[in-house]
Amino acid sequence: MTGITILGSTGSIGVSTLDVLAQQKERFQVIALTANTQVERLFQQCQAVQPEFAVMVDADAAQQLQQKIKQAGLTTQVRQGLSGLIEVASLAQTDYVMAAIVGGAGLLPTLAAAEAGKRILLANKEALVMSGHLFMDAVHTSGAELLPIDSEHNAIFQTLPENYRDGLAATGVQKILLTGSGGPFRNTPLDELHRVTPDQACAHPNWSMGRKISVDSATMMNKGLELIEACWLFDTSPDNIEIVVHPQSIIHSMVEYVDGSVLAQMGMPDMRTPIAHALAWPQRMPSGVTRLDFFSGVKLEFQKPDYDRFPCLRLAEEAIRTGGTMPAILNAANEVAVQAFLEQRLAFTAIATLVEKVMQTISAQEAASLDVILEEDARARDVAGKLLLAGEKAG
Ligand code: NAD
Ligand code: MG
Repeated sequence: MTGITILGSTGSIGVSTLDVLAQQKERFQVIALTANTQVERLFQQCQAVQPEFAVMVDADAAQQLQQKIKQAGLTTQVRQGLSGLIEVASLAQTDYVMAAIVGGAGLLPTLAAAEAGKRILLANKEALVMSGHLFMDAVHTSGAELLPIDSEHNAIFQTLPENYRDGLAATGVQKILLTGSGGPFRNTPLDELHRVTPDQACAHPNWSMGRKISVDSATMMNKGLELIEACWLFDTSPDNIEIVVHPQSIIHSMVEYVDGSVLAQMGMPDMRTPIAHALAWPQRMPSGVTRLDFFSGVKLEFQKPDYDRFPCLRLAEEAIRTGGTMPAILNAANEVAVQAFLEQRLAFTAIATLVEKVMQTISAQEAASLDVILEEDARARDVAGKLLLAGEKAG
């Protein structure tokens, strides 16, 4: 049996992971589940899979969960806080860690899994964006296995040559084609963008996801974060990655080779495919995903990304080219801006403006240690918060 910890089990990726695992009960055992505040949902998951550990970040929520678990006669041990997350990410009986916490909150537990040499199924792209070099070093030093869950990176991983770690150029790769749907506002008149609502932004045409990544998809900051993620995962630079808008999300990304071959990974837009792929790799196993039916009017369209409509793309590219702590600054400012947009304190189009101002205010340093990264992350959140307040006061 393979033991697995799911960080962020109550979220969109967490729930899809449990769905795939429910089809493979003889092969995987859930060791630990974690959530931020959703007691009832985590309790129901504990009843269903009876993990050894359940972690609630919030202390009150942990107490409530403890009570419910006791009443139900379950043996699951409840932990709380960041220390609980780190503990269950590095348990000896855990072989695989699904990193599916949203945002920078996932960095320390995901890094703990890397340091403990686990197979990491990485959904939490923000962790890698913030700490790129450090994270990859931890993976290489401990011998951890890093498998991408992000559908594009999983597709790239599937279409790269097996020995891609010898270098992309050395293995005949011309470039990586990172696809993205363009989100719900691809065709919205530009002068209407400033008044789109959180619910409109979260209504993604192809994927059902958590609210933060849904807003990132609407601004295309998600594609920007994914560009940075791809640079780290595949040890390359933005020069070798082209963003291609593909509204149908049937192709999940492609790799172009020097001989002119282009390999694509296709399928229905359902995260259970990359999750099952990474769980079973290097083998394959069923995921429960609907088959792609080529005779039901499948269309494959492609466009160039529109940098005027989606300034976050440019900001993310600038951040990775600047390097050091700038990707962490970009990510932190974006998290604050997206949260403010979801709370209807900030207009949709002001997300990019706020991120850009924070990037102009704080200069990048060498990302020499985790402490430096965390400090810069905190500084960026602070600056973003102050700019937000100043903006609100100005009306
Ligand atoms: P979600 O909002 O649905 O779920 C987030 C999970 O993280 C929940 O379990 C929540 O309890 C937990 N969480 C939230 N804040 C926390 C905190 N401060 N500390 C600890 N735990 C916390 O998000 P999601 O859509 O499942 O996305 C999770 C991650 O996967 C994100 O990084 C996202 O970019 C990435 N991802 C998601 C999808 C998708 O289809 N949903 C696709 C690709 C990548
Ligand atoms: Mg993606």
